[in-house]
Order: sequence, then C-alpha cells, then structure tokens
Amino acid sequence: MRIQLLFLVAEFAIMSSALTLEKPFSFKDTPGKLPKEVVPTDYSVRIVPDIDKLTFAGTETVKLNVRSAVRQLVLNALELQIEAASLDGRELPASAIKTDTKSELLTLALPSELPTGEHTLTLRFAGKINEQGQGLFYMRYQEYGSGARKTMLGTQFEATDARRFFPCWDEPVFRARVQLTAVVPENWLAVSNMPIESEKKIDGGKEVRFAATPPMSSYLNVFVAGELDSIESRSGPTQLRVITTKGKAEMGRYALEATAKILQYYNDYFGVAYPLPKLDQIAIPGGFGGAMENWGGITYYESKLLFDPKSSSAETKQDIYEVLAHEMAHQWFGDLVTMAWWDNLWLNEGFASWMGSKCTAHFNPEWEVWLRHELPRDPSRRVGIAKEAAMEGDARSTTHPIQQPVATETEANSAFDDITYKKGQSFLRMLESFLGENPFRAGIRRYMAAHSYSNTTTADLWNALSEASGKPVAEIAAGWTEQPGFPLVKVKREQDGNVSLSQERFAVNFTKAPPLEWKIPLTYAVTGETPATLLMTGKFGSIHNILPDRALKLNVNGAGNYRVEYDEPSWKLLLGVLKNLGVEDRVNLLSDAWALVQANRAPIGLYFELVEKLPASTDLAEREQITHVLDFINRLLSGSSEQEKFQQYARSLLRPTFDAIGWKAEPEDRPATVNLRGSLITALGNLNDPKIIAACRERFKDFLSNPDSLSPDLRPAVFSVVGRYADESTWNELHQLGLKTTSIEEKQNYYDALADAIDPKLVKKTLPIALTDELPTSRAIFLVLRVARESGHPNVAWDFARANIKALLAKADALGANTYAPSLFTFFSDNLRAQELRTYAKKSLPVASSPQVAKAVDEIQFQSEFKSRLAPQLSAWIDGKNTAEPRISAIRDH
Ligand SMILES: [Zn+2]
Repeated sequence: MRIQLLFLVAEFAIMSSALTLEKPFSFKDTPGKLPKEVVPTDYSVRIVPDIDKLTFAGTETVKLNVRSAVRQLVLNALELQIEAASLDGRELPASAIKTDTKSELLTLALPSELPTGEHTLTLRFAGKINEQGQGLFYMRYQEYGSGARKTMLGTQFEATDARRFFPCWDEPVFRARVQLTAVVPENWLAVSNMPIESEKKIDGGKEVRFAATPPMSSYLNVFVAGELDSIESRSGPTQLRVITTKGKAEMGRYALEATAKILQYYNDYFGVAYPLPKLDQIAIPGGFGGAMENWGGITYYESKLLFDPKSSSAETKQDIYEVLAHEMAHQWFGDLVTMAWWDNLWLNEGFASWMGSKCTAHFNPEWEVWLRHELPRDPSRRVGIAKEAAMEGDARSTTHPIQQPVATETEANSAFDDITYKKGQSFLRMLESFLGENPFRAGIRRYMAAHSYSNTTTADLWNALSEASGKPVAEIAAGWTEQPGFPLVKVKREQDGNVSLSQERFAVNFTKAPPLEWKIPLTYAVTGETPATLLMTGKFGSIHNILPDRALKLNVNGAGNYRVEYDEPSWKLLLGVLKNLGVEDRVNLLSDAWALVQANRAPIGLYFELVEKLPASTDLAEREQITHVLDFINRLLSGSSEQEKFQQYARSLLRPTFDAIGWKAEPEDRPATVNLRGSLITALGNLNDPKIIAACRERFKDFLSNPDSLSPDLRPAVFSVVGRYADESTWNELHQLGLKTTSIEEKQNYYDALADAIDPKLVKKTLPIALTDELPTSRAIFLVLRVARESGHPNVAWDFARANIKALLAKADALGANTYAPSLFTFFSDNLRAQELRTYAKKSLPVASSPQVAKAVDEIQFQSEFKSRLAPQLSAWIDGKNTAEPRISAIRDH
C-alpha cells in the first residue's frame, strides 16, 4: 500500500532521549514471529475458486532450504482449513497439523528431526472468498453500458493477508519465487504478477498457469480475474497494459500513456531497469479505496486509474497521475528492494510518496504538486498540503517516530499513517534539497544496485546517501526518523546585524511535551540575495551581517520540515516584501502563522493580517491554504452565535478571487485555475454565499436537462453545494442519478452530495444508505464519516453508527474496525464527548484501538480549547476591522 482511505491512525508517542542508530540489514536479526531456520525458496500454488459458494480449494508445493535442523515447521495461515500436509513425499498425520487463529500461525510437528538442506512441503487447503479487501475477495458491480450485475475476484495482501490465500512465510524478509495456477470460467481474463505461461480447457472452465516470479515478499502477490478488457502498449522490453471491467478499457488510455512516460523516468532515475516482462495497471470496482503496488500487477480502485474525458474532472486526472507515479515508484522501492520489517515501512511509503510527487511535478510543473497534493484523498478528511497534514499530527502528544517498533499484525497495519507517508516524504524532500539533487540520486542508484532482490533497513539507505554525498546523513537523519515531533526555529534580530536563532519542540495541545533537539538543515534568504544553507546542530545558532532594513525568510520554498517564529521586527519586514516572495514562500508563511495560532503562540490576528496584506492572487495553493483554514474555523463555529459574522468576513476574503476568475472556463485557463474555481465554489458554498448557492442550483437544473451544459471539472463542487442546501425533491434527484450511473467517479460525486445535506431530515435519509450495496463495500461506510464532517450533525451520524455498528464494521477490514468509531468522534468539539468515547472504547472496542481513541480524544480536547480561545479573538479582529476604514472587499457582497 498502499494508498488507502485510511481512518485516523496513530501510535502513542514513544519517547526515547538517546537515539540508537539502527544497524544495516541482516536476515537473522530481522524482527518477526517466524523462526529463521527454514527458508522457503519456491512456491507452486494452484487455486480453484467456487464463485457460487464463495470458497476456494488450493494445493501448494514449497521448496524449503533448511539452514539448521528443526523438529517443526512454522509458517502463517489464517482462515484456511489445512486438509493434508506431506513432507518430502511422506504424509503427516492430522494430529501433526496445528493452526492457531490468534497467532495466525500454522505449525507442523515433524516425526523426526529434519536435517539441513533442501526439502519439499506439500499442502492441501481450503479458504473463503471475502467481501472486504482482505486475501481473496469478490466484487459485485454493474457492467458498463448494460448495467448487468457481475462478479469478479481480486486479492489484497498487504500487510499480512497473503496467509488468507495460501499458507506461507508471510513476513517481508522471506523472499521466494511464486508460480501461480488458477482455474477460472472460460470467458474470464486472469491476471497475476507475471505473464500467462500456458492455458488449457478443463472441466468447468480453464486452467491458467502463470510464469514464476523473481524472489519477492509474499505481500506483493496478486490475482485478479473476471470479465475484463484491456488495452496495451510497449516500452522497450516491457509490455504495458491497463485492465478494466468490460467496456471501460478506453478510459485507461490516459493511464497507459502516463505509465510509459513514468516507466522511462524511473528506469533512468533508479539506474536499474524495470525487471519484469510486463506491468499491468488493473482497475477494480471495489475491495478498497486506493491502490496496491503488487509487483507487475498494480491494483487501483477504479476512479484512481480510469479517466473519462466526457465526465472526469481535472482533479481526477491529477490524482490518477500521482497515484500511478507513487505505485510505480514502489516497483523499485518496495518490490525490488523491500524493507526488512514493518518498523521500516516508511522506507516504502515515505519514499514512494516523495518519488511519486517528484515525478508528477517533473512532468506537470503547472499542477503545484509540492504545494497542494495530499494523498490519500480521503473524503472524511480536510484536503490540504501533504506536509502540513503530517506536521499537524506530528505536533500532538499522540504522534510517534517515523521508525517505530512493530510486533503484531495490528501494529503492522496501523503503521500506514500520515507520519509514515507524509512526514517520510517531507523529510526526504528536505534531505534532498540539503544534499543536492545529483548526489541524492547517485546515492539512490547505489542503494538500488547494492540491494536488488533483497531487503534493507533505513541504515542501508543512509549509508548509500552518505557515500554518495560525503555528508553524515545518518547523524542528521536520526533525530527526524527516530524521535517524534519536529522543531520550531525562533528568529530574533539583534542590534549589530546579527540574527540569533534558537530551536525548541513545536507542540499543539501538548503542554508537557518532552524537550527534544534536531540537527536542522536550514535554508534562508535575504531579500534580493541567493538562498543559503546552514546546518543548525544545537539549541542555538546565528546568522551574521544582515542589513537591518532587509527582510530575512527562513525555510526557502517551504521545503523544510520545521516551523519558524519571527520576532516582531523580522515579521514586519516580511509583511513589507510579500509581493516579492514566490508562492511557495507565501504559502509557507501562511501555514506557519496558522500553526502558531493553533499552538497558542499568536492570536488569530497574526494570520488574518497576513492574509489581508497578501497581494491579489489567483495562485491555487495560496488560496487553498486560506480556504482550508476558513473551512476549519467555520466548522468549529458551527451552530454558534459567532458563525454568521465570521462567514460574512470569510466570504469577503474569498469573493475577490472568485470574481477575478469567474464561472466561465476560458481556453487559456491554467489547470490550477480550473481547480481553484471548483475549490472556491465549494468554499463559498460552505460559507453560505447566497449568490454561489443560487448559481449552483441554476446550473444543476440545466444539467438535469442537458448534462453537457456542466463541465466535469465543476460537477463535484456544484453537486456538493446543491446537496448541502437540498430539499427532499432535490435530494431524491441526486439519489436517482447516483443509482443510475455505472461510473464509479460520478457515483461518488452524487453520494458525496447526498452526505453533505444539512437538513436533519435528509441526514436521516442518507445514513442508512451505508448499510445497502448501492456503493462498493469499501466506500459505503465512509458515507457516515462524510455526513459527520459535512452535515453539521456529527451527533446524528454517531447515533446511527452506534446503533448499526455491527453491520457497518462487517464492511470494514481489521484496521477499519479499530478506527471507525474513534474517527467519528473527531468531528466533535465538546469535551463531554471525549469522556463518552473513553467509556465507549472501554466497553466496546478492542485494546488495539487505543492509539486511535487517544488521537480522537486529543482532537476533541484541542478543538474544544481552540474554540473557546478563537471566538473572542475573532470577534475582536472582525469588529476592529468594521470600526476602521471600510475596505472595498469587505463591504461588497452582502
Ligand atoms: Zn505506497
């Protein structure tokens, strides 16, 4: 993974004052449950699914390399019935076979000691085809065009679910070749990691035999089958395909073309060519909401891969590119070279996130990738800059280091969080800008060449980067990956042209945060001069010879993972030169100012003064940073007496930008302008702007009689505003449209709009849809989260969820079960709810959910405290404006 639609996930903070530098990879020292004496080298697996009974029968032969004599074999199996086992041709008695559901282990007791050397294990087993994306699962969907109900199969193994498909050594360090054979109906297409080697007709269908994979980790295997179509091309020796359900293959054209370009870019960047004969990009209509980097056969939730020029939006196009680039980066970082254990998951995910963004930005410089894209794009969460999302979580008491111990399957699954993906990405970006693009790439090439078809720890990466750059990377990196949090750098102007710097830990709602220090690769620029770097190695530092009238900006382009607090003279100088700063630096100042307000280090006036002093601009990322903050405050004030006054003020900030770009798409619009238009319509709609609401209703009416009248780029925003203020008949119209369409993307737009309705009567109509099969299983339960976030009635959403929790969780995977209820509480800002969640968790949630509960409790407490602080500050700021000279923008629109 996996880009998933994750619920809130975090671990308790692990505070360690002394940093212990990690050791390079060694097989025997790698953590895990499985003994290391026996190593599988080759699996041959045959699977026969029964689609009607939702079960499958399997057999497998495993070649074993026994490194020291053993009396038993221990491997993983879960929800598999082991019917027979034999070793070197001799059948083991049934009493020798033990499966333990809790430890997820299969133990085979041997009649005598098994000597070192090569041995062969044969197993016969039976398993089930699941509804959720765990192991082998089925998806029911409406076929494109005909609308006929169809069923197809897929697999999802990361982190620990290959063991539901075949008994195996299901820990990433046990690399082995896998040769898969499967029996499917004759009119089906079957896909796996490798090309089909042979196919023959047999009773009840056809038997498809795939070529054996190179040695790889078990979680990267894949099997997808159904009534599928494909389009294909080539890039050098590599066959490229996009595979879809029948009728949709042409919608894969955009992804197919992007794949060819990205593959070339990576072949060059990594210095090692893509090693498999083919790469399939497979669109599946359910199972999970994201994408999974199975080697040679990447699976995507359909709307993350397919682009229909007639109905898909510009946002979708950009999402597809970035997800493609992320998953393809994994084909090297993750698949060819794999982290030894889940405690180093960030090596996979932080790296793929960074590389994917870098590649996307390279081919699409106009998309402002570094400034805005957040993956995963989770409908229940605020959209924002990836780096900012990570920093918000990392400032709290519930954060954890990038590298964290993982002992259990639950912990492995919980490791897929913002810290792993986004802090990992953000740190790598800071490191690259410090080491330089070329030395950094040289280090990556060295790492790839040294560790292909093998496993690594973070230490191996630092060693390669150190050798290539000549800089002590491990020493700098340790503070960022082995301890939680990040620093705040305080800037103070001295009399003599010196600027003194000091660092401390930046914390929000975390009064007793243990103090920590970092080695900070600082960058800074004085107006009119070239940027410079400075490695700040202790608590204090200084910059010399800065003319007293020149503005000084730290964290050039916002590429560093730290916050900056300027003293008043420095801040005033910066406010005076805003128009000379690039958009990256302006966004960085906005983000830092907002974070200082959250941390109670500054009043809200600091942020809004900056917003008002910014030059007029239609830069997407800058405006989105502002809409993100306004949206947060608007939700926080929901139902309060201050909300209306705030909405009026907020609209006055956004209206001039919208008026400048207008409703009508112009041929010369930049892609960013197209995104901004949708973004502002949603934001102004949320802020109750009567003109926007009326215009959206009018456009929706036209759309009903002539769908082509509304550009696909505007549809999500227009539907959302119409849905928000819908009456019953409008709600019904949106619902009918959602039921009818066979496009996953359009369907999501309509159901999102239903979930946005604020009328409590309609909220009660929307929620039960989560229990039906109108939406794919993986999406249905998110509807409740979206209602909780958007409707202004999180209490109604929670009451519904509590009453139906069993049915809802039946649609979630194990991780979802731990995080679902806590996630619903994060939309509350009343302290009593924190207590309610604690009580509920004690009675009804597994212990494994405690990190998520802690995170939700922290969020409620933060919002409660922030709300009481913010309300009077906002009032004072807005009233202060109204008594001052009226500004044109403030008196226009209402
Ligand atoms: Zn990933």
